[in-house]
Amino acid sequence: MVKTAHGAAALTAVGVVLALAFALTTGGSSAGDEGGTGTQGPSPSSGGSGGKGSASGPAWDGKVKVIGDGSTSYTGPQPKQPKAEKLKPGERPPQFVVFSWDGALEGDDHMFSHFRQVAKDNNAQMTFFLSGMYLLPKSKRMLYHPPKHDAGSAAISFATDQHIRDTLEQLRQAWLDGDEIGTHFNGHFCGSGGGKDWSTAEWTSETKQAYSFVENWKTNTGYKDIPPLPFDYQKELVGGRAPCLEGQKTLLPAEKAMGWRYDASSPGDFQVWPSKKDGIWNFPMQLMPYPGKDFQVLSMDFNFLYNQSGDNTEGDPSKYAQWEKETREGYLNGFERVYNGSRAPMYIGNHFENWNGGIYMQAIEDVVKDVCRRDGVRCVTFAQLTDWLDAQDPKVLARLRLLDPAQAPDWKTIIK
Ligand SMILES: [Zn+2]
Repeated sequence: MVKTAHGAAALTAVGVVLALAFALTTGGSSAGDEGGTGTQGPSPSSGGSGGKGSASGPAWDGKVKVIGDGSTSYTGPQPKQPKAEKLKPGERPPQFVVFSWDGALEGDDHMFSHFRQVAKDNNAQMTFFLSGMYLLPKSKRMLYHPPKHDAGSAAISFATDQHIRDTLEQLRQAWLDGDEIGTHFNGHFCGSGGGKDWSTAEWTSETKQAYSFVENWKTNTGYKDIPPLPFDYQKELVGGRAPCLEGQKTLLPAEKAMGWRYDASSPGDFQVWPSKKDGIWNFPMQLMPYPGKDFQVLSMDFNFLYNQSGDNTEGDPSKYAQWEKETREGYLNGFERVYNGSRAPMYIGNHFENWNGGIYMQAIEDVVKDVCRRDGVRCVTFAQLTDWLDAQDPKVLARLRLLDPAQAPDWKTIIK
């Protein structure tokens, strides 16, 4: 019934107004959502240690282990990770909020570094879904072999050499801050010939190339003055978000085979406690009450944009203040509903874009500042949320899933 923004999927009930597909590739100076070129062929595999997963790993021998060509390294368990604790009987669950960023390029507008700082200043950690091709120089673009498209092609711009350098630095810092480096895959192909038309084998190829661009940036760029990234991507990467939220059905089996733990590609659902889909935690964009209207809006910048200026990313400036307010209040509507209700984890997806004068970025920043220091709130990464969910009693989670978003139960009847 609905055409979604960044993705399209039939959502049950509710008059949802979603948004366009991401054909709105940036324009303007910064590479925006994504951009970057190719790397070595697909074939990850690194000599890291330990298995997949973030918080808990095997004992570390204290030695830094440089992997492959020196693009990545294993430097021990990731710093600043919370311990996942099981709820005690009658305990009200924490209110988890995940802020996630698609693309994760450090462009001329320095949004990656800015939001990394916003996170640090507000007791938050975030998930950065890197487009792997952002670490592939344009001169090496032929190393990228996208499914159903010509080698070297992409629907987004390849990063400039300077942006590759700057992004590498932000990835390093983000990981050291305890943030997560997930993936937004590579060429951002949507619509016909895009992710929803890809087979599982094609998704596997796309994903292996995303690994490869991260694990071989040193060879591909030739940069000798930048240290290895401080993580083993074979272990760090445990989840992603498909471009335009398209293709989850065939993507999930590929992710499962790679040992991933979650997927954030589902285009939309109500604000309910998460469940697994095909054995992987499924974290869909969520429907939140649109301020002053009788429909709901998905928790992603596109969807607000679509409701405000349609597919025009530079709408009427005289409306910016009002739209920014609506966006902020939309997110806060969603937050308050679960914070005072079921405590279902909340997910927000955003892009490093200056659409409509940057109002969506400001709205997110305001929401981070508003909610992340409140009592009981934990602004975490998807990987951390996954750790927490895996630490809970499945029977408790099953009861939580039955709650409506605004329903504040007697916790003793749920957590027992
Ligand atoms: Zn995207």
